[in-house]
Amino acid sequence: MARGDPGTHQTLMSSHDILKAIPSVDEAIRYLEGRGVLSERPRPLVVRSVRAALEKERKAILAEDGREAASIEEAREAILGRLEREVERSALSDLVPVINATGVVVHTNLGRAPLSQSALDAVTAVARGYSNLEYDLTRGKRGKRDFLVRDALCELTGAEDALVVNNNAAAVLLALNTLAEGREVIVSRSELIEIGGSFRLPEVFEKSGTRMAAVGTTNRTHVSDVEGAIRGTTGAIMAVHWSNYEIVGFVERVGIRELAQIGGRRGIPVIHDLGSGILVETDRIGLRGEMTVAESVKAGATVSTFSGDKLLGGPQAGIAVGTADVIGRMRANPLTRALRPGKLTLGALQATLAHYLEDDALAEIPVLARITEPVESLRSRADALASIVAGKLGDRASVATAEVKARVGGGAAPEREIPSVALTIAPRTASPSAVAAALLETRPAVIVLTREDGIVLDLRTVAPSEEEALLAALVEAFEER
Ligand SMILES: *Cc1c(COP(=O)(O)O)cnc(C)c1O
Repeated sequence: MARGDPGTHQTLMSSHDILKAIPSVDEAIRYLEGRGVLSERPRPLVVRSVRAALEKERKAILAEDGREAASIEEAREAILGRLEREVERSALSDLVPVINATGVVVHTNLGRAPLSQSALDAVTAVARGYSNLEYDLTRGKRGKRDFLVRDALCELTGAEDALVVNNNAAAVLLALNTLAEGREVIVSRSELIEIGGSFRLPEVFEKSGTRMAAVGTTNRTHVSDVEGAIRGTTGAIMAVHWSNYEIVGFVERVGIRELAQIGGRRGIPVIHDLGSGILVETDRIGLRGEMTVAESVKAGATVSTFSGDKLLGGPQAGIAVGTADVIGRMRANPLTRALRPGKLTLGALQATLAHYLEDDALAEIPVLARITEPVESLRSRADALASIVAGKLGDRASVATAEVKARVGGGAAPEREIPSVALTIAPRTASPSAVAAALLETRPAVIVLTREDGIVLDLRTVAPSEEEALLAALVEAFEER
């Protein structure tokens, strides 16, 4: 089939002829089936990625872009090889469980807080059938979802009232809009933060319909700056947790207590965005110096907002606690309807809060269990795992343990280090990055740190119940390497 002199097999085919090597979708699927690469993905999605891959081949051939071949057979073999790879890769865009071996406990890219067993049970129970989401069982008629976890939140924070929305960004937006639409909000220049996922405070002010009145300088804001900025059009004063950055050195901030005093004197509400919601004494989780929600309320914040899935350890949610008047006004804001949480969230949140009320949060809530696991426990788990992994990998890698620093992450004392122990694996025949990449394709996938000399698996963020799956993933990733 090669053009030109039939005697030379080196002659390359024309694009037009190479196009004939592209298999039909059916042929491609049969081939993939034969290769055993068809995942559990729904068939229409597989067909979709096969179509896209074949179309890409067609375009590349027409553009004469690295698709030379001397025969139809050769061209087809190359096409099928690339197709197999593409289809395998397309399955990687599904939402799947991963093992977090990064040592960052609240990892926003990895879904933040895993749920406790009873939170999972609550989700299942509430989701399987109907629920009293908006039905008041005490009166046998229509109720409101807004009141479901209110008592627990008030009990745990000392606030008069509480409201749950979709996430903390929503809680901040709602608080600003409710309290200060068309008015100014005083905020320290040092607190005009951007956190990941495009939450930039100046833009949040704008979208909430409020005007930002930034006071002080980047590193220092004084009480007089705040007082001097108050005018008739001031709607609120706002304090924001520095979240994922820190200013050190010549720094002065106006604390929430002082802001609350100023607000109290001048009749201006104070919004406190805590970022992470800590509901236990910070000493108990090694985070002395951080502020709990109860402390924010006690200091006099009119409304304090925080995430449900950072250090609180529950589902994605935004929680606002505060005075009955202000939370009541937020509840009545039409925006609340657009920001409300679903029943799965409320079920999981209710069960998570119950751990705090029953004082078994440190044992039962995964992020708190991970943060507070003693380093000796991590060391003995690491030693045991290292010897098993070394046995399984044989001479393909050298396996050891190392003292490392884990981090809380998630904008709650993000840079605060927690002593930890890691498994270090130096592959002998493959590069560390190739092994790390192979670990992204196991199920569950494993996210590790990659260094020049090997991969590092911080056990601080790996639950004991995940060790078996981790082991299997490592063995798979090293197969044929
Ligand atoms: C994380 C964080 C937010 C955003 O919370 P989400 O629940 O992700 O919407 C807002 N403010 C601060 C200070 C944060 O740390």
